[in-house]
Amino acid sequence: MTRELKTYQKKRNFRKSPEPNAGGRRQKEPLFVIQRHAARNLHYDFRLEMNGVLKSWAVPKGIPKRVGEKRLAVLTENHPLSYANFEGRIPEGEYGAGTVKIAEKGTYENMKPKAMSTCFRQGRIEVWLTGKRLDGPFALIHFKEKNWLLIKLRKR
Ligand code: MN
Repeated sequence: MTRELKTYQKKRNFRKSPEPNAGGRRQKEPLFVIQRHAARNLHYDFRLEMNGVLKSWAVPKGIPKRVGEKRLAVLTENHPLSYANFEGRIPEGEYGAGTVKIAEKGTYENMKPKAMSTCFRQGRIEVWLTGKRLDGPFALIHFKEKNWLLIKLRKR
């Protein structure tokens, strides 16, 4: 098991939850997914593929709609790539109990002249998201502990 998914796997009981325990294959272009997660508190999970896993943020208020709009995005544990296809119901009593639905999915392009892992480590990510409805640049800026800001940028 990859070390990158240890926290993810520890938090879940795969005999009870329909979530994937690992897996997923890298495609030509890195993917992003936004999942609507009706758990105890409704939120949107924003995930970006990075080094074979999905880096994940919980965004309580959802993806910003207007240019310049900022939304709190709380970093959570890495998820397996296969999670990008997951929709379903996590049973009561399990971690993240509630329903998960894919709200948007597509590919992204790193807009910075650095590796994504470097951008992540430095806390400044800029990506162009291309999905079914989304098509444009977004930034993720780290500011404190697990807290980041997800910002919709202007198209240039
Ligand atoms: Mn969630």
